[in-house]
Amino acid sequence: MARIGIAGAGLLGRLLAWQLARTGAQVQVFDAAAGPAPAFGAQGPAAFSAAGMLCPLAERDHADARVAALGWRSIALWRGIVAALPVPRPFFAERGSLLVAHRSDLASAQRVLARLVDDTHAEPEPLDAAALARLEPALPAPAHAWLLPGEAQIDPLAAMAALHAAAEGVAWHWQRPVAQALPGRLLFADGGSAAFDCVIDVRGLGAAPVWPLRGVRGETVWLHAPGHGLTRPLRLVHPRQRVYLVPRPDDLLFLGATEIESEDRSPVSLKSAVELMSAAHSVLPVLAEARILRLDRHLRPALPDHLPRTEHADGLLCINGLFRHGWLMAPALVQDALALLRHEVAA
Ligand SMILES: Cc1cc2nc3c(=O)[nH]c(=O)nc-3n(C[C@H](O)[C@H](O)[C@H](O)COP(=O)(O)OP(=O)(O)OC[C@H]3O[C@@H](n4cnc5c(N)ncnc54)[C@H](O)[C@@H]3O)c2cc1C
Repeated sequence: MARIGIAGAGLLGRLLAWQLARTGAQVQVFDAAAGPAPAFGAQGPAAFSAAGMLCPLAERDHADARVAALGWRSIALWRGIVAALPVPRPFFAERGSLLVAHRSDLASAQRVLARLVDDTHAEPEPLDAAALARLEPALPAPAHAWLLPGEAQIDPLAAMAALHAAAEGVAWHWQRPVAQALPGRLLFADGGSAAFDCVIDVRGLGAAPVWPLRGVRGETVWLHAPGHGLTRPLRLVHPRQRVYLVPRPDDLLFLGATEIESEDRSPVSLKSAVELMSAAHSVLPVLAEARILRLDRHLRPALPDHLPRTEHADGLLCINGLFRHGWLMAPALVQDALALLRHEVAA
């Protein structure tokens, strides 16, 4: 039975551990975090702080076609992963997403739409007021709206918890920071080490000493908004922020997100909070009475080209640089990684 050592129990670490355990491998996971539960405020995995939007078409606004291709593949894979997880399964929906613009932002919206090109999948569909009312009856008609068909969303908190709980036989080692991931060996910050048939390094920003990674700050607002009525992710064309509203179970609404070139982990700024909340309120006035549950922030692990990278040598596999697309791309990246590892895993 192959012995696999994984550094990092974030999104990639949990997906890999769950999938490898299902192949019969003997998996141990080492993480710096205190435990498996969500940690916010730029502590622990970035995965908990994410919106969980699976939007390959919308992300073409600023992402490479390769990101979109990994995203479309991953949506199909998430469907299978969620179905294979035990009940209660994490919330996952494929209802498409909305792009909306106020009247004064039509020119900006047209510039965005010109970039949302994907030869392999459906195009943005303009929605008139009646079509929008059929899709989102609770949404007051904005001046301009488009449906981005085929896009999806997942609840990150529930998915992270479910992958951890379902990874049978995996040994999780918390508060065990990894100092170095080497072929077949992990060196720990406390001076210890352990040997494996294969080591997988998925420490996100924690691998920064070895990879040319930088953190890109993202700030978000978590609202409790009973009766908000929104049923799919909505992006608002905005002059300064990439504003989105993401509905989650239990009347939660997630507002995101700033994208700031800074590794500052300090609390959310007043400017960011005000901009996100006033933009959200401008499309959904019922949010005036929403309650603010959390102001959160984290750093997205980014490589200089904003693309993910997988490196494989005998006994060592590293995946990193998922930037703002980790949930969007992880299942496809993991599928490709497991194909690279097939000989080691079969050992
Ligand atoms: C505000 C925000 C919104 C986002 N929204 C979306 C979205 O809507 N859709 C989307 O696709 N993506 C989104 N993302 C991006 C997504 O969260 C990341 O791309 C993803 O979490 C990266 O996964 P990962 O496994 O590489 O890293 P992480 O999830 O960050 O996990 C890394 C793990 O490594 C551990 N670690 C670090 N250092 C060490 C060490 N030395 N030893 C051991 N363990 C260590 C950490 O504790 C952590 O558990 C968002 C991110 C942010 C910040």
